[in-house]
Formats: sequence, structure tokens, C-alpha cells
Amino acid sequence: MKRVKYVIANWKMNGSSKSLGLVKNINLHLLKKTTKSPKVIICPPFTLIKDLSTRNFRSLKFGGQDVHFKESGAYTGSVSAGMLKDINAKYVIIGHSERRLYQNESISEISEKIKTTLNNNLKVIFCLGEKASEIKKRSTILKNQLKSLPHNFNQNQIIIAYEPVWAIGTGQTPSLKDINSIHLKIRKLLKNYVGENNDKISIIYGGSVNSSNSVDILGLKHVDGALVGGASLKFNDFRKIIDS
Ligand code: PEP
Repeated sequence: MKRVKYVIANWKMNGSSKSLGLVKNINLHLLKKTTKSPKVIICPPFTLIKDLSTRNFRSLKFGGQDVHFKESGAYTGSVSAGMLKDINAKYVIIGHSERRLYQNESISEISEKIKTTLNNNLKVIFCLGEKASEIKKRSTILKNQLKSLPHNFNQNQIIIAYEPVWAIGTGQTPSLKDINSIHLKIRKLLKNYVGENNDKISIIYGGSVNSSNSVDILGLKHVDGALVGGASLKFNDFRKIIDS
């Protein structure tokens, strides 16, 4: 089964109106490529989405880094899925470990966010992963985090991003063998949600992907792409990851 491959940039709380040049370069690079490219999605801070998503960047799509679980209301500072749709975002990152940690996002809140996002016809980039202290009970942790997913979801609407928390921004990654086997394990666990035929779900890896390790990581049989933080902010690094 040929699954959709993704390279997704998570800019986190970085970027400004000056970041337009970076996005122009990425778009140009993709347009010039003669070989098949992965789908490239940029998730900048909310403040930049509209400016980027309403320009004619034909090879790129844009997404939010979070969404509120309600459609509207008295939730100061929050952004709804409808608002993201209104500014031409197509994806939303949900369940990132930094939000689980700093905003105390729970399994059930994440589940509500996924529902609202899908109801608004946006695609979900669902992050899960264990902390350093949880490596030994990784399977239980991942199984529990997957409970945020709805049953019988459309396999083209949710991308799964396995992101070990201890690998994010640290320069450390699991071994290639481990990444491959954990992805396979996650696919097996996904059978509980969509049944035996779950081949279409893309499972991507995130956590210290850079221009030196991307060829190896993205070459793994069970890895369908990458979610990239730090290295997505530098054109040359991100370009090499896309080309991997
Ligand atoms: C992330 O935050 O999703 C991420 C993968 O970050 P980094 O690539 O910097 O480890």
C-alpha cells in the first residue's frame, strides 16, 4: 500500500512577517523538483497563517498548531476550528507534548479537539509519544494516548505523529530499529479504531529530525514522513529533509 508521505513544519512560537522569504524558498524548491515530493505542510503561529495561506503557494498547505475544542464562545485567547478554516488552514496539530505539558491537555480534551477539527473538515496531525521516564511502559502510554481518537475515523483525515517527548528539541532520537518497530506497533494498535485495513493511515516520526538523520529515518519501512520543529526554520536544513 502506497501511503501519503508528509513533511510537516512545526514552527512553534517562532516566525514573523519576515518568515515569508523562507516559505517562498520552500515553495520554489518544491516547484523546481523533478522527483516526487512529499506533501509539505507548514504550521506557523496563528498570526501568520492567513498571510501565508492566501498567497499562491501552490506546493504548500498550512495548518494551525492548536485549536479550541468548542466552536465559539467565551474562551479568551483561543482559536476555533471554524476560524482556522476561514483563513484557509487545512490541518491542525493536536496533542503536541508541549501543549500536554504546559496547558495540561488531557486525553478527553484532545479527543474533543479532534472531533471539532474533523467536523470542520480540517485534517488532524495527532501527536503522541512517551516521556523519558515512561520508556519502559511505552506501549501502555501510547495505547492510552490513542484513546483520544474517534472510532472508524477516515484514514485520510488523521495523520499520526509519533514524537517521543525526550527526543523533541534534544538532538536525541530512538534507534532506527526502535522507530520502525514502534511505528509498526502503533499501526497494530490502530486496528482497534479502524479495523484490520488500516493501511492508509500515515504514521510520521517527530523528534530531532535534521538534515543529517533524515535520509535514514525517512527511509524506514514504517515511517511515512516527519514532523520537524527546529530544523524547519532553516531553509537549507528543511530542504534536505524534504529531499530525503
Ligand atoms: C516538534 O516539536 O514537533 C519537534 C519535532 O521538534 P524538534 O524537531 O525540534 O525536535
